[in-house]
Amino acid sequence: MGHVSIPSSTPLNADLHCHSVVSDGTLTPEALAERASANGVQLWSLTDHDEIGGQHLARAAAHANGMDYLTGTEISVTFADNTVHIVGLGFDPDDEQLTQGLALTRGGRGARAQEISRQLAEVGIHNAYDGALKYVGNPELISRTHFARYLVEIGACRDTSEVFRRYLTEGNPGFVPHRWATLSNAVRWIRDAGGMAVIAHPARYRFTANEEYALFTEFKKHGGEGVEVVTGSHTPSEYKTYADMALEFDLAASRGSDFHSPDESHTDLGTLPPLPSQLTPVWEVIAHRIQRRLTSSD
Ligand code: AMP
Ligand code: MN
Ligand code: MN
Ligand code: MN
Repeated sequence: MGHVSIPSSTPLNADLHCHSVVSDGTLTPEALAERASANGVQLWSLTDHDEIGGQHLARAAAHANGMDYLTGTEISVTFADNTVHIVGLGFDPDDEQLTQGLALTRGGRGARAQEISRQLAEVGIHNAYDGALKYVGNPELISRTHFARYLVEIGACRDTSEVFRRYLTEGNPGFVPHRWATLSNAVRWIRDAGGMAVIAHPARYRFTANEEYALFTEFKKHGGEGVEVVTGSHTPSEYKTYADMALEFDLAASRGSDFHSPDESHTDLGTLPPLPSQLTPVWEVIAHRIQRRLTSSD
């Protein structure tokens, strides 16, 4: 991304969070790149859950559509008995440790899906495993989103938000607790691959203030460097809350729609407001790093 050069008064239209058929999105990396570019995105990242299989395609598609690209992923982590998502940006997409760590993280999804299906059968929803599979683009990545699409298909719920209110979540049928990667491993895999770790959509977690403080503190301790402030998962008042958190914890700030599907996502690629101006964008940190590497190898 070394050749990005726009007047500094114009905020860069960066969208550094979305999903393709390689995880739980409904569009291919190529279709996402076209959509992002049509919406004015200048710097893009595809951040599939626990997967980097789409990265080479996404980068080529970004360049074909005139956008700069940062490699991306969104790692599922278990922290304080909750699931937290850590986005990785700007890493080597062929890094062996990251590839293997993500494969391990994906590993339990098949058995978990069978258990989700068994629980749904108990409340009269049969063959949900096979039903969800019809929506899966990557056999290693069956997720709750695929079950949600099947529940909408059979008319059990009107849309996927209703599914997550009535099923698949804690206290509801089809909730199967799962142990994902540890925070320290996720951050280390990203960092060792030359990337930057970013806390995804922090307002989404049901943490007490103490647990949230512990998450930010441990994340920093492990070498985490950024937090999503402006995301499709936050309200405008949450932009403010996490802008303050970014400043308090000296973290760079990221922006991303978390777009999954034209039929499901309320925030389209590239349409969010810019980051609050007092924050340091993650892409500036990454650009400086690339610049330093280039100069030191001269
Ligand atoms: P999994 O990784 O299998 O636990 O699935 C998590 C995915 O489910 C998230 O990445 C979202 O795409 C989707 N999801 C979780 N909660 C909700 C919700 N309340 N509304 C819509 N989608 C959700
Ligand atoms: Mn998702
Ligand atoms: Mn997420
Ligand atoms: Mn996401």
